Amino acid sequence: SLFLDHNDAISTFEFDKETDLVLEDTLYNFDIYRLKKPLYPGDSLKLSFSVKNKPNTSIRKNSSVVSNGTFINNRLFPTFGYPGGELTDDKTREKYDLPPNKLKPHPSDSTALGNTYISKDADWIDFEATVSTSKDQIAIAPGYLQKEWIEGDRRYFHYKMDSKILNFYAFNSAKYEVVQDQWNDVKLEIYYHKDHDYNLDRMMKGMKAALEYCSSNFSPYQHRQLRIIEFPRTSGGFAQSFPNTVPFSEDIGFIAKVDDSEEGGNDYAFFVSVHEVAHQWWAHQVIGADVLGATMLSESLSEYVTLKVIEQVNGKKKMRKFLKRSLDTYLTQRTFERKRENALMYNDGQGYIHYQKGSLVFYALSDYIGEKTLNKALSKYVKKVAFQEPPYTTSIDLLNHIKEVTPDSLNYLLDDMFETITLYQNRVVETKSEKLDNGKYKVDIEFKVSKYRNDEKGRAFYGDREKDSITYQTDEMKKPEYSVFLEDYIDIGIFGEDDDENETELYLKKHKISSIHNKISIIVDKEPKEVGIDPYNKLIDTNSEDNRKKIEN
Ligand SMILES: [Zn+2]
Repeated sequence: SLFLDHNDAISTFEFDKETDLVLEDTLYNFDIYRLKKPLYPGDSLKLSFSVKNKPNTSIRKNSSVVSNGTFINNRLFPTFGYPGGELTDDKTREKYDLPPNKLKPHPSDSTALGNTYISKDADWIDFEATVSTSKDQIAIAPGYLQKEWIEGDRRYFHYKMDSKILNFYAFNSAKYEVVQDQWNDVKLEIYYHKDHDYNLDRMMKGMKAALEYCSSNFSPYQHRQLRIIEFPRTSGGFAQSFPNTVPFSEDIGFIAKVDDSEEGGNDYAFFVSVHEVAHQWWAHQVIGADVLGATMLSESLSEYVTLKVIEQVNGKKKMRKFLKRSLDTYLTQRTFERKRENALMYNDGQGYIHYQKGSLVFYALSDYIGEKTLNKALSKYVKKVAFQEPPYTTSIDLLNHIKEVTPDSLNYLLDDMFETITLYQNRVVETKSEKLDNGKYKVDIEFKVSKYRNDEKGRAFYGDREKDSITYQTDEMKKPEYSVFLEDYIDIGIFGEDDDENETELYLKKHKISSIHNKISIIVDKEPKEVGIDPYNKLIDTNSEDNRKKIEN
């Protein structure tokens, strides 16, 4: 039998082999057809279909076509297979006497690697489309324009892709203006609404920077063209990466009023462009199987590229702003979790894990093992799995590539960051400095380092066995402080000021820390003003505000 999932549009379906419709769920628009003659492996069956929206009414818009700025993706069309879409909240399920719902399979389940998480009903596809629109509009689909013509009052566009793509595509149409540029042999275009030209330079710069970073660090770009296409905010405030085609909401790019001044934030028209272009690698070349942790391979790595490009193009200060926001968002969002929080590599697809925690983790990793080393491992991984046929890759496969280049002394990082939920509570307790006879300064720092783990419900623990944890207790303390066993390398920083009162780095080095309570003395050349333990908040720390302390003399 055949499962056909569709929407509530007026549709016709026709198979080229005889079938019986045995179930038609008109509420969920899900049909089951029985084939008169069974289909054998490797055999084919053709489905012809038409989809037409119900007429719009005065209170309900049934068409996804708008007068200027249509954005439609392939969800308009039917798909094969069981659609999922079950109730996920266990309390609600209990009310209806349903068992707890099955979440995605674990990446170690080798029987579950047959589909990508993007599409259940197709592997890599050949794509060709003819789209027609109003005479005064441009219609866009993935691929390269083969032909354009006018017939009656319609304008036609014929697009064809020259390589295999994911079963994931979109159509846009509007009265567009076009700005063009070039990056090496790649033709760059931005299609925008007349007058919405505020951030075209920022977006073009983002496309180029991401193409440069990804192609020089991972693998060549697979297309000869890359386009950003504006759509109106009524369709949402996001951007989305399709093969060589990036629909982008006016909201977060074209009409955005970006404040990226010294005191301001990050240039999001720029960095959203970077993130989406990075998906041409991390989704459109490497796509994870439909199991837990799949989005680490797409969203976390696109965020990692974004952070690295921000650091390269806009400087360390902007990068730190991005990191701090990621940390704060992660810490806040996880408190709202209703179902469970898994470790990054087994995540259920929550944004605060695959974007925010993912960006923190990959950034920290690049700091610990080196950006070049990490990117080499990523590049080796891309070569192994890009455009692969099933079984598809998983987060375990990626982590194994990272393990290969990680020294034993830093293996704990991979446990902490990928395989468990581990949070630090690092803070400076006391600090003072003293000017020495030779003109240098001696800085004493008393600080605490500890970390704990969380299970999926947010309960804290310090290790699986007793010897996994360490304690610290003084006579005055009623209860000891605990930590997961430490042999951790953590930045200690000492900062001064230049003549304009800007912070300068006098000392920054990773120290091996093996106890909760620590005292250290460091000599620096210039007058110190502030000290810090993990002062740049590279680690996931429940309180990022107490990592630094001013020196009181
Ligand atoms: Zn993304």
